[in-house]
Amino acid sequence: MKIFYSETHRRHQPPFEVFDGGVRVPYLENPDRMDRILNALRGVDWAEICEPADFGLDPILAVHDREYLDFLASAWTEWLDAAPKDPATLIPATFPLRRQPRKPTSLLGRAGYYIMDLSACIVEGTYPAALASANCALSAAQAVMEGERAAFALCRPPGHHAGKDYAGGYCFINNAAVAANWLTSCGRVAVLDVDYHAGNGTQDIFYERDDVLTISIHADPDFEYPHFIGFAEERGRGRGFGFHHNLPLPKGTGDTEYLLTLDQALQRIREFNPSFLVISAGMDIYADDPLGTIKVSTQGIGEIGRRIAALGLPSVIVMEGGYANDALGRNILAFLSNFDNGR
Ligand SMILES: [Zn+2]
Repeated sequence: MKIFYSETHRRHQPPFEVFDGGVRVPYLENPDRMDRILNALRGVDWAEICEPADFGLDPILAVHDREYLDFLASAWTEWLDAAPKDPATLIPATFPLRRQPRKPTSLLGRAGYYIMDLSACIVEGTYPAALASANCALSAAQAVMEGERAAFALCRPPGHHAGKDYAGGYCFINNAAVAANWLTSCGRVAVLDVDYHAGNGTQDIFYERDDVLTISIHADPDFEYPHFIGFAEERGRGRGFGFHHNLPLPKGTGDTEYLLTLDQALQRIREFNPSFLVISAGMDIYADDPLGTIKVSTQGIGEIGRRIAALGLPSVIVMEGGYANDALGRNILAFLSNFDNGR
């Protein structure tokens, strides 16, 4: 299986993030996550690690707002130009009200406008790392379009919380959405998000479209991030109505209950009969994840991969979250090993 990976992610390494209550903690979405996964993949004979190609900005601008992307591109330089007291990382502290806000012009105004929480910290290398991450997803999509049974985009930073014009949840560019939208030139696409958190950005991007079916299985936003979106009654808008599904789960969900929910999602995908499948593969459903509350085992993650692979669809697997670094390598191997490379 082709694995698309770029070292550029190392340039995005914020020194800390801010948790609820104002607690500063080391950045959980860290480069070590990738090292653990790479080490595991280098130990198997079916993984071929490849550099991504550069697709330019057009496929990214096809799902993201240009002014938002311009903000990501210049935010770091503007931050330093503003001579902040502690320049370590750009984190805004003021956010828009629940009404259509005026688009601000100041750096901190735009940062609050374009960033939904305190986890999407911007440092010098954030924008190039986010572009390289999107190129990994696009390269995996291209490999699948050219006939590979499945390809894995080892993306960092992750993407599924990034909406059309906002960053959040460690995400800046929605890699899975960029790949899915790119694939629509060749047929209908289903996006299945199995990350522990609701794929709010992917939901936003495709909410009014009927050529991309989006399904997210995740911890109920009633108690979990992203709190304001990801509820079962959100099913799409306009012609997109019925083409989005959220399947929220309670705390403590184990393998058996998870797999029952997955089967519902897989049935919907079969009915939609897409040409391609994009999987937002978050490993924070794992029982020991520091950010998770559901209890899927490594064996359960393997079974999730097996059932998704059994759809027999050309599949682009995109790395999302997963913060139990010790277990990331074996969990990714368990998930991927079921996708035959078709050669
Ligand atoms: Zn997550």
